[in-house]
Amino acid sequence: AKSSPSQSEFYQAVLEVLESLSPLFEKEKHYLDQNIIERIVEPERQIMFRVTWVDDKGKINVNKGYRVEFNSAIGPYKGGLRFHPSVSASIIKFLGFEQTFKNSLTGLAIGGGKGGSDFDPKGKSDNEIMSFCQAFMSELYRHIGPTIDVPAGDIGVGGREIGYLFGQYKRLTGRYEGVLTGKRIPWGGSLVRTEATGYGAVYFAQNMLQNAGDHLDGKICAVSGAGNVAIYTIEKLYQLGATPVTCSDSRGMIYHKSGINLETLKQLKEKQQAPLQNYLQTHPDAVYKPVADYAPGRNEVWSVPCDLAFPSATQNELNQADALALLANGCKLVAEGANMPSTPEAVEEFLKARIHYAPGKAANAGGVATSQLEMAQNASMIQWSFDEVDLRLKNIMKNIFTSAWETADEFNQPGNLVLGANIAGFRKVADAMIDQGAV
Ligand code: NAP
Repeated sequence: AKSSPSQSEFYQAVLEVLESLSPLFEKEKHYLDQNIIERIVEPERQIMFRVTWVDDKGKINVNKGYRVEFNSAIGPYKGGLRFHPSVSASIIKFLGFEQTFKNSLTGLAIGGGKGGSDFDPKGKSDNEIMSFCQAFMSELYRHIGPTIDVPAGDIGVGGREIGYLFGQYKRLTGRYEGVLTGKRIPWGGSLVRTEATGYGAVYFAQNMLQNAGDHLDGKICAVSGAGNVAIYTIEKLYQLGATPVTCSDSRGMIYHKSGINLETLKQLKEKQQAPLQNYLQTHPDAVYKPVADYAPGRNEVWSVPCDLAFPSATQNELNQADALALLANGCKLVAEGANMPSTPEAVEEFLKARIHYAPGKAANAGGVATSQLEMAQNASMIQWSFDEVDLRLKNIMKNIFTSAWETADEFNQPGNLVLGANIAGFRKVADAMIDQGAV
């Protein structure tokens, strides 16, 4: 990692997985004989491309585009597209690596991939977003397909962007097919896909609590983020009797002790794309803290008293000091809606304290699982009801929990869902690779 600091997020993710796989390699030597580690950390294919688009002033802009097709041992590549200025080859590679194990854990036939661009959607007009999406797809379309690689949304990519990407794919290929997920309902989307990652993270937390004879009812919850995952985490927490008291965006955080007002949050973030600070206009009893006022090196979302925490914004948003603050404030459960939101030092603290800790690849797998349900509906040309998809999502989250829990037991580390999720996810992919020969 030291010789290639530009891939720091990727090395962080690989290290975490490999460390927890060592008990498996000790027990089952054939993985090492098959040189599986070297094979599995290398993406099958990485595509980097120029995205040239014209803004409203007629200026030609250039961004970097990426698609990493990481692993297709158990199915077509599947994973989201992220549009955010922080996107780099390392970020996309770490996300694609994690995605491989997450997708395996869902029990569904989907391989791992991820993509995106350093394009910043903030402040862009609708026309500029469309121009960018069309330019992005003008290169991507030649690499994807419903049985090859099926991208979805992620940070900065929601229903609107998927629409423009799909329209361009159709124009270029002439094919109406399930090549993207996260589509809007009238033209091929699945009910529950919008809600799936947030709902799934809460279902996962519910499984952890129920397994310990506890429940969500009455619990105070800290949630970070104010996007797709955070909003539907908050919605499901309310439905199951808990009270979410925080949310955040890249500019600051809201602490509303009596409970975040979900309708206001949706209005601000889904309809107006407004900063969270505007929440105070209708809820003057809430507290807003801009990032500039956070204690140095801290994310203030994690400093409020809470029973449960749902990091749902971005990678490395919860460090060791934040973890210690959560533990000191009585937090008993962390379920990661975001990908790799906790630093390795923070994870260490959670494991040491033996609280319920669910890594993102387990807790947030409901999004990609429901994407696969969207693929299944597209392939069969049938649309399932909300309740049917929701029930399937619930069952998938239960199965992921059980699989990670039982694998942790098998390796004599009861309750260690990092180890359980990594080994369970890895084993299926590695076994498929071995079955398929020197691939
Ligand atoms: P989103 O709708 O774009 O929302 C992201 C939220 O996080 C926004 O509130 C954003 O604030 C905030 N954020 C982003 N980057 C940040 C940064 N560097 N510092 C502080 N805040 C930041 O994205 P999302 O779909 O909710 O994704 C959130 C996380 O969940 C990501 O880690 C993603 O990979 C993961 N995830 C998503 C899905 C899914 O189905 N959507 C599935 C699995 C995992 P601003 O708006 O101010 O930037």
